[in-house]
Amino acid sequence: MSKMKASTALVNVLKNWDIDHVYGIPGDSIDTVVDALRKEQDTIKFIHVRHEEVATLAASSYTKLTGKIGVALAIGGPGAIHMLNGMYDAKMDNVPMLVLAGQVPTSVANTKYFQEVDLPTLFTDVAVFNKQIEDAETLPDIVDVAIRTAYEKKGVAVLTIPNDILLTEINHTVAAKQEVFQQVKPEISTESIAQAAELIKSAKNPVILAGVGTKHAKEALVQFSEHTKTPVIISLPAKGIMPDDHPNFLGNLGKIGTKPAYEAMQDADLLLMIGNDYPYTDYLPQESVKSIQIDIDPAKIGHRFPATVGIVGDAKEALTALIEATDYIATRAFLEASQENMANWWKWLREDEAKTTTPIAPEAVMAQVQKIADKDTIFSIDVGTSTVWSTRYLHLGHHNDFLISAWLGTMGCALPGAIAAKQAFPDRQVIAITGDGGFSMVMQDFVTAVGYKMPMIVIVLNNKELSFIKYEQQSAGELNYAIDLPDINYAQFAESCGGLGFRVETFDELESAFKAARNASLPVIIDIAVDSNAAPLPGKIVMDEALGYTKFEIRSITEDHRFSKMPPLKTIIRRFF
Ligand code: FAD
Repeated sequence: MSKMKASTALVNVLKNWDIDHVYGIPGDSIDTVVDALRKEQDTIKFIHVRHEEVATLAASSYTKLTGKIGVALAIGGPGAIHMLNGMYDAKMDNVPMLVLAGQVPTSVANTKYFQEVDLPTLFTDVAVFNKQIEDAETLPDIVDVAIRTAYEKKGVAVLTIPNDILLTEINHTVAAKQEVFQQVKPEISTESIAQAAELIKSAKNPVILAGVGTKHAKEALVQFSEHTKTPVIISLPAKGIMPDDHPNFLGNLGKIGTKPAYEAMQDADLLLMIGNDYPYTDYLPQESVKSIQIDIDPAKIGHRFPATVGIVGDAKEALTALIEATDYIATRAFLEASQENMANWWKWLREDEAKTTTPIAPEAVMAQVQKIADKDTIFSIDVGTSTVWSTRYLHLGHHNDFLISAWLGTMGCALPGAIAAKQAFPDRQVIAITGDGGFSMVMQDFVTAVGYKMPMIVIVLNNKELSFIKYEQQSAGELNYAIDLPDINYAQFAESCGGLGFRVETFDELESAFKAARNASLPVIIDIAVDSNAAPLPGKIVMDEALGYTKFEIRSITEDHRFSKMPPLKTIIRRFF
C-alpha cells in the first residue's frame, strides 16, 4: 500500500471505471484534481470548457450517446452553481453522471468564508447520491460508491470535496478494474406475454407508441411492426429508433408531432406503449381503449395511461417474445390507411422543403442539412423552434443519433451535445441545429470545439427573436413582448474563435455554404438568416390554443402600437365641443 494524495487516488478510481475524459473548469478548490488529471492525460482527457453549465450538459449528452457515465468538475461556490442546469438535464432524462465540486478548506468551513456555499443542500433535489467528504482516507471508496449509485439509479452522484482533503496523503491500493455497470433486467412473465398476444390478435387498429427505452431494440421494433402490421409512433427524443422512411412509421406525437400520428391515436383500438413515459396524455386515445405497456420499471406501468396488460421487462426481450407469441399478419387496413395519411403528410413537408424564398424558410435549411448528412450523423438539437424543424424534417435512419434535452428542455443544449458527440465518436459527422437564442446562451464554448479540434457543423437558424416563445405568447392570447434578439453575425464570431463561418442571407447562398461546411476540417458555424414568420403548425391544434391565438389577433389589432395612436371618435369629438 503506497501513500498518495487523495486527489490522485480519486483519479485512480475514475480510471478503474474506464472513464476517459472529464469536462470542467479548473480553479482553486479543485486544482489538485486537475493536476492529477494532467499527470494521467494519456488515459483521461480533461476537456476545459468555458462555462460549467456546458461541462454538465456535455457530460449528460455523452452518456445519452454511449451509456457510459459522464463526469464534470468545477470549483465550489459559483462553479458548482453553474453546473446545476446540466445536472438537472441528467436527472430528468435518467442519465448517470458524476459531479465533483470543490469546497472551501475544512479549517474555515461554516465561517461564511469566501465562495462558501452549502453545496449538499443545494444539490439535494438533483442528486441520487450527494455527499460532502469529511475524511480523506474514505474518498476513493466513496467515489466508487458514487459511480455505482449513479449507474444503478440512473441519476447524478455529487461529491463535494474540501480542498485540504484532496491534498491529504492517504494510504491507497489501486483496486481491480471495474466492469461497466450492467442493469439487472427483470424476468418477463410468460403470462403477461400470452395476455398481450391475445389483445394483439383481437385488435383491428393497434398502434405503437415507442420511446427512449426502445433505443437498443430498434430492429426488434421494426420486426414486430412488420410482423403484426402495426403503425409505429414515437416520442420526440426517440427520433431515429424507427427509420423515418419506413412505411409503417407515422412520426412523433404531440404539439410538434405529425397529424397522421395524432389521428392514428384517435382511431386506435389498442395502444402499445413501449419504453416510454409519454407526458402529453391529451394526445393519447380515450382511456377506455385497451393497452399493453412494456417498461423495465414497474412503477411506470399505468403511470400515464391505464394498462390493460403490463409487461415489466426489457423492451427488446418483450418484443422478441411477442413476435414469437403472435401470428404473422399479411395485411391490415388500418396500417394501409395510416400509410396513405402519412404519404400526404410527407408530400406537404416536401413542398415546404422546396421553398426557395428569401428570407430563407427553415424547411429549406433542413433539406440542405439532409443533403450533406451522413448515414451515421449525430444530430444535436437545441430547444425552441429548432426542435420543431429538426424533428419534423430530418430523415433519420438506424445509424443516426438524435440528442436533445428532452425533459428539462433547456435552451443551449445543442453545442454541448455536439462537443460530447465529437468526444465520443471523433470519426462521425456531428451537426448541431440551434436557434440564435439557444446558441447565444452557450456560444463561448464554440472555442472549446475549436481548441480540441472537433470538426462539427453548427447551424444557427438566426431569426433575431425567441420564436418558440413568440408562438407561446400568441397561443396564450398575449401580445409579443421581450422576444427580440440583436442581429449578431455568428459567422464572424466563428472566425474570431479560429473556426470557419458562413453567413447565409439569401437562398442562393445556402447550398454552397453547406457544401463548404461539409468539407471543412474545422468547426464551422453556418449562420442563416431565416424567415421569422415561419410558424411550425402543430400536428393538432387544441381549442385553448385556437382561442388564445384568436385573442392574440384581436389584441394585436386593438392594442397594437399604431392602432393605439388612433384615438376613438369619442375622444376626438370632445375637442370640438
Ligand atoms: P422517457 O420519459 O425517458 O421514458 C423512457 C421510458 O423507457 C421510461 O419509462 C423507462 O423506464 C423505460 N425504459 C428504459 N429502458 C428500458 C428498457 N430497456 N426496456 C423497456 N423500457 C425501458 N415529446 C413528445 O413525445 N412529443 C412532443 O411534441 C414533444 N415536444 C417537445 C418540445 C420541446 C421543445 C422539448 C424540449 C421536448 C419535447 N418533448 C416532446 C419531449 C418530452 O418532454 C418528453 O421528454 C418525452 O416525451 C419523453 O419521451 P419518452 O417517454 O420516450 O422518454
